[in-house]
Amino acid sequence: MKLRRFTRVLFHFIGILLYPGICPFCGEVSTDPFSQQDGICPSCRQTIRTIGDPYCLKCGKPLEDAGDEYCPDCEKTHHFFDQGRALYVHEGPVKDAVYQLKYGGRRVYGEIFGEELALQFGSWIAARHIDLIIPIPLHRKRYRERGYNQASVIAHALADKCRIVCRDDLLVRPSKTRRLKTMGRDKRKDALRGAFRTEFRTDPDRQKPNILLVDDIYTTGSTIDEAARTLKAAGAGKVYFLTFTIGRGQ
Ligand SMILES: [Zn+2]
Ligand SMILES: [Zn+2]
Repeated sequence: MKLRRFTRVLFHFIGILLYPGICPFCGEVSTDPFSQQDGICPSCRQTIRTIGDPYCLKCGKPLEDAGDEYCPDCEKTHHFFDQGRALYVHEGPVKDAVYQLKYGGRRVYGEIFGEELALQFGSWIAARHIDLIIPIPLHRKRYRERGYNQASVIAHALADKCRIVCRDDLLVRPSKTRRLKTMGRDKRKDALRGAFRTEFRTDPDRQKPNILLVDDIYTTGSTIDEAARTLKAAGAGKVYFLTFTIGRGQ
């Protein structure tokens, strides 16, 4: 077993010991932490619905009107990514769980989210012939504060389940981007321009590889767009994304 994989498995089991089978949404502790019930509990599965039809064919955001193909944002914005999906709307207990993953040290939630994405989107991924999974990187300072990149935890859990290569080193974020939360779409776009560097290189004689970007949340899509733009400029084929949650607004 490679050391990195060993470390990941080790962390997984430490996670189970520290947080035995806690449901990330309601905090309910499973009586059997090693059972298949580990993760989202049956009652939350029933009450907290995943995003289903109708959803935007570009970004996966839920649509009000089943007659629409795209959300208002994707109708008027050019996106560099080809297509993406998200599992939950970013609200209520789901939003709290993502917050706990990012700021509450609940690394194990990222593993649950990644496995959940694999479970729900396994055939979606298979149909898109993904060659490589890349998590949206964190700036080094944020990484040091947090100790891990939440997107990377999700991406590796997903990649392990789908048996697709996952690389953290191909996309990096050398400069610290200002906090984007309060910015509008255009300002976000400007702030993010050139935010990523890529080590991704392709062989011109071979088919362009398709990439799946993974992040915890999709808000305006500016971050994923800039990552997709950077990777395509370096020779990527199609660039898709999966996020655990997506904002309802624009
Ligand atoms: Zn629950
Ligand atoms: Zn959309």
